[in-house]
Amino acid sequence: MRRMRTALATIFLLFIAGQANGQVRKSCEQGVTLKLSAGVTTQGNLLLAEILGAGAHPGITAEWDGKATPLWREGEKTGTLHGLTGIDLEKAPGVYAWTISWRDDAGKQLTCSASVTVRAGKFPTERLKVEKQFVQPDPEQQKRAEEEQKKMRAIYETVTPQRYWEGKFRLPLKDVTTGGNFGRRRILNGEARSPHAGVDFPAPSGTAVLASQCGKVVIAEELFYSGNTVVIDHGYGIYTMYAHLSEMGVKPGEMAEAGEEIGKVGATGRVTGPHLHWGLTVERARVNALRIVQQQP
Ligand SMILES: [Zn+2]
Repeated sequence: MRRMRTALATIFLLFIAGQANGQVRKSCEQGVTLKLSAGVTTQGNLLLAEILGAGAHPGITAEWDGKATPLWREGEKTGTLHGLTGIDLEKAPGVYAWTISWRDDAGKQLTCSASVTVRAGKFPTERLKVEKQFVQPDPEQQKRAEEEQKKMRAIYETVTPQRYWEGKFRLPLKDVTTGGNFGRRRILNGEARSPHAGVDFPAPSGTAVLASQCGKVVIAEELFYSGNTVVIDHGYGIYTMYAHLSEMGVKPGEMAEAGEEIGKVGATGRVTGPHLHWGLTVERARVNALRIVQQQP
């Protein structure tokens, strides 16, 4: 009994300190509470935010590291706002602010901030041998790759102010529970290249690739590095990408359903063999895609 009481007291103290399970809970003015899923995180992770008591303050806006980040409501009447922040896999380690602001009835600006410590991820370095053109592209290939990267950046810069997803994000292959390689620093044919921003799932060519969630198809085309590539916009800056496909079953502008077949596993683009490369981008941050299945925004 006594031990139980001590345990309860400890839990209560942790709760008071706002540190239970590493979560952050901050009491702000006017009955507003800011909750973050973690106060300490690492590169390539997701942070879930909840703003409680927001019903009376429809004008609450949020910023992560000084940049506006979207908030949404789960249904019309609820007083809770939700946000999702991606920690880019190359975000400089340090302490950053997650801030909300709004105006009171007198027009005075109110703000409330929580600090988030970002730590370096432990990503192994791997050395791979790929076709020469993918490490030393000729000028024409180089130009093509640069144009494609520009196009992708413009897509990821776009935050659609609408929620397309519904229910849970799921893995893009049936009967597969996990994938790997996220964040690996890469040396290709002896030359350093950008880190691996997706999760690789080894699978035979022709295996059905499923949309992780509902959303609008924004890319379905053959790209120099990622081969046949599908990108789906799930709204609020959340995008999933499916690369190296042998076939694509959707077109840009179409809505994809969660779990719908959007293509087949292949070995197109810069690969060492057939697999699915699955990427997640949240407001331009390249994040470990498995996290969205584990955490669910
Ligand atoms: Zn990959």
